[in-house]
Amino acid sequence: MSERVLPFDEALEVVLTQARSAGGRRGVEDVDLLASAARVLAAAVIADRDQPAFDRSTRDGYAVRAGDVGRSLRVVGSVRAGEAWVGKDLGEGEAIEIMTGAPLPAGADAVVMVEHVSVEGEALRVEGGRTLRVGENVVPRGGETLAGKVVLPVGRVMGAAEISVAASCGLANVSVFARPTVAIIATGDELVELDEPMEAWQIRNSNSYALAALVEAAGGVGLRLAIARDTLGELRAQVAEGREADLLLLSGGVSMGKYDLVEQVLREFRAEFFFTGALIQPGKPIVFGRLPSERGWTYFFGLPGNPVSTQVCFALFVAPMLRALAGRTEVASVFVEARLAEEVKGGARVTRFLPAELSGGWDGVEVRVVGWQGSGDVVANARGNGYVVLPAGVEHFPAGLTVRVLLR
Ligand code: AMP
Ligand code: MG
Repeated sequence: MSERVLPFDEALEVVLTQARSAGGRRGVEDVDLLASAARVLAAAVIADRDQPAFDRSTRDGYAVRAGDVGRSLRVVGSVRAGEAWVGKDLGEGEAIEIMTGAPLPAGADAVVMVEHVSVEGEALRVEGGRTLRVGENVVPRGGETLAGKVVLPVGRVMGAAEISVAASCGLANVSVFARPTVAIIATGDELVELDEPMEAWQIRNSNSYALAALVEAAGGVGLRLAIARDTLGELRAQVAEGREADLLLLSGGVSMGKYDLVEQVLREFRAEFFFTGALIQPGKPIVFGRLPSERGWTYFFGLPGNPVSTQVCFALFVAPMLRALAGRTEVASVFVEARLAEEVKGGARVTRFLPAELSGGWDGVEVRVVGWQGSGDVVANARGNGYVVLPAGVEHFPAGLTVRVLLR
């Protein structure tokens, strides 16, 4: 078997390249605006009118001519949000009281804040020798967007900010991509399902649940298939079923052990492998490739079975691919920088991703590696909120060093 084990950055680049070209046939559905949260836009949102649709005051104050500031002005009326000024155009030496969000009366070209004036009866004065720019405290008509312009492109994930934009354009529902399906196959003779009686030396199948949860969070629909025992027959049957999904994930069976048969079975299905390992820890045995299927190709990842390895590999490699299959245009994961709270020993020849806790506030963020028993330690993993990245070949990571962290 030809092995192809890549350094972390090269493996990631391979996944991102495949993800960006993954395209594929994607269904589209119309959903209520609020139901679009976390979904991916399948049709651009277009501004139905200029925003703002009129010159809008951004302050409570007085609409004036900027050049008039410095002299005593006469207050001739008042306009509030939701109203239009129906009186005469504002003339020289005049001011009109105005509220935030109200349209600027014709003839005025700026708004002076209420905090900056003194008013006695009808007479208004701008205090303290202040001057005013033309356009100050006013957003001009169309200043945010013009009617007909794209305000949210296809491929954008809907969150509160995007929902607010769609609502501002009067959309009660939006068009989103159907979620990609992800077949999840846990492999291993030692595994038992959650509701089964078990012996002390057996292992509960937690990976199928972790993966299903991760899939949901990345915009997919997880299909948990039955556990495949470490036999060619069971693996063949499950892979045959799983390749009908948009993405196939297997956990376990990709190491060098006697019962690690996943790669062999994938090869029987005429898999093309992009890599068969990555220089990372945990997660080194990961395999990535694609299988010929009814839809052309189905991408697959064979993830190492140790639960933290499975989850790290998902965060690093599967999430970007899944975002792409979901129709998102931004597929790469964002790594943040933080200060190491405590020193960490280095010297590894692979890039390490250790469960870590990121915390902090105004004065910066710091990250602390959580103590763990290795890549089977789901309890320690759950104490963290991300993975700190420790590059290969560095002897020592002193406290205070800036390191990268992948949040989860
Ligand atoms: P493998 O990659 O198949 O050699 O699996 C490595 C170890 O990961 C196994 O010995 C189990 O302890 C653990 N493991 C494998 N599959 C699962 C699973 N589905 N859920 C929880 N732990 C697993
Ligand atoms: Mg196994």
